[in-house]
Amino acid sequence: MKCPKCTAGMETISFQGIEVERCIACHGLWFDMLEHEDLKALAGSEVIDDGLPEVGRAFDTEGTLRCPSCAGPLVRMVDVQQPHLWFESCASCFGVFFDAGEFRDFKEVGLVDRVRDLMRRARS
Ligand SMILES: [Zn+2]
Ligand SMILES: [Zn+2]
Repeated sequence: MKCPKCTAGMETISFQGIEVERCIACHGLWFDMLEHEDLKALAGSEVIDDGLPEVGRAFDTEGTLRCPSCAGPLVRMVDVQQPHLWFESCASCFGVFFDAGEFRDFKEVGLVDRVRDLMRRARS
């Protein structure tokens, strides 16, 4: 598999039995359909995102990208809870690509939101 952003090779890494691909150069992450949601729910899974957010942001550019899995076009998506967070999703196989640092962001704000929910509930 080749990285859709920088075309370097990707290595398979696994966390608690879930396998994802990580680019050896820019450290972007490729998740098969819904794996990013499965991993988000697992404690400690942010260790798979070991790249620098600065590097990830540099690759957060416009342009047509191809799915590394099925070669379909990747569509830019925005996380509803976090509009600053852009990621790419394949319209055919539903895999998603996160630039370095974005999975940590995706996961961490999710936790903050959950805490905020709990506090809101506690107050009412
Ligand atoms: Zn890359
Ligand atoms: Zn695809």
